[in-house]
Amino acid sequence: MNVSSRKVVCFIGVGSNTGDPVQNCLEALDRLSAGETTEVLRRSSLYRTEPVGIIDQPWFINAVVEVRTTLEAHALLGVLQGIEERMGRVRAGKGGPRVIDLDILLYGERVIRDETLCVPHPEMHRRRFVLVPLMEIAPYVIHPVYGISIRGLLERLSDISTVIPLGAAATGR
Ligand code: ATP
Ligand code: CA
Ligand code: CA
Repeated sequence: MNVSSRKVVCFIGVGSNTGDPVQNCLEALDRLSAGETTEVLRRSSLYRTEPVGIIDQPWFINAVVEVRTTLEAHALLGVLQGIEERMGRVRAGKGGPRVIDLDILLYGERVIRDETLCVPHPEMHRRRFVLVPLMEIAPYVIHPVYGISIRGLLERLSDISTVIPLGAAATGR
């Protein structure tokens, strides 16, 4: 096996709703780009999104990024959690306000279900704030559990929460 065949293409969900969420998401993307083990291939626009689940909290900024990595999936999760920690994330339970959240949505076509990692992310197919940015960069990628493209998942989606693309001017890039 040569080195390149061990690289896996992944999709990572990025979200923030405290402090300056746009800057937080951009900083997380910069940190992923700077990482020696993760190469950013593409990133979606940033989106302003309505909270789902715990609705009494500020709106989020969300994006999705395509990354090529040499890391095994659990090691990638460790890198993402390291970025979250260095950006000041305080673990305060699922779904609540956070400075930055980095979730592995897809890790190649792998299906992983253990105590620390579920891939594909178990909620991704139900979340408009994930599927809309993913649709922008990966409409034809197939969800390895459901065998349906991102486009197909979005067409079947019942989540009607609001997801609004930010203009390029608002992101400063
Ligand atoms: P959700 O997973 O519903 O989006 P959340 O992002 O708020 O909720 P966190 O508190 O950030 O949840 O993470 C809780 C735990 O989820 C992490 O400690 C991690 O071990 C686990 N986890 C399982 N699968 C994944 C995944 N695909 N990506 C990121 N974390 C995951
Ligand atoms: Ca999450
Ligand atoms: Ca998370």
